Amino acid sequence: MASPSPRAPLAERVEELLAPGGPLPIVAAGDPVLRAGAERYDGQLGPALLARFVEALRITMHAAPGVGLAAPQVGVGLRIAVIEDPAPVPEEVRVARGRVPQPFRVLVNPSYEPVGSVRAAFFEGCLSVPGWQAVVARPAEVRLTGADEAGRPLDEVFGGWPARIVQHETDHLDGVLYLDRAEPRSLAANQAVLERWAQPTPEKAARELGFDLP
Ligand code: ZN
Repeated sequence: MASPSPRAPLAERVEELLAPGGPLPIVAAGDPVLRAGAERYDGQLGPALLARFVEALRITMHAAPGVGLAAPQVGVGLRIAVIEDPAPVPEEVRVARGRVPQPFRVLVNPSYEPVGSVRAAFFEGCLSVPGWQAVVARPAEVRLTGADEAGRPLDEVFGGWPARIVQHETDHLDGVLYLDRAEPRSLAANQAVLERWAQPTPEKAARELGFDLP
């Protein structure tokens, strides 16, 4: 056998991860893979394995269910993420949060920068921090650059809820969790959000829990 290329270990690990089929186990906060910062994707998996990995991310995101999933969340330190949001929310929530449907997308080596200075603050959660949500103020609009799964360049401005999703997922690739950016006093169990803080905006939560909004 030829000696293995330096890329082999990562591709081998992804092969092993995909072998059982179905949704992948999601890594929870506390695992260093979520803090390490992911390696730039530069063909380490090859086109066929990349396609299978992306499909596994999609299945895992749907099963969770979630609106985005980054490779480190399944233990793979590559700068790859998927997003998709059917946005099944009431009209008033859609308007207040800009929660418009986001078709399925693959983000390869994404990075973002704010467009303008407007910030938006809403409750946000993470599949790697199950059971909890917190309010995060983020740039309302961002310019996202990178590539798609076929290597086609991506350069697009995102607004509304899709802007929040792409920031959250790109942050994962930099080893950042949403809690790092959250208002600590807004931390709420899912049940509390459901029962008390389901309003379209977090103003009541800010008053009663005692945190600031932008
Ligand atoms: Zn997350």
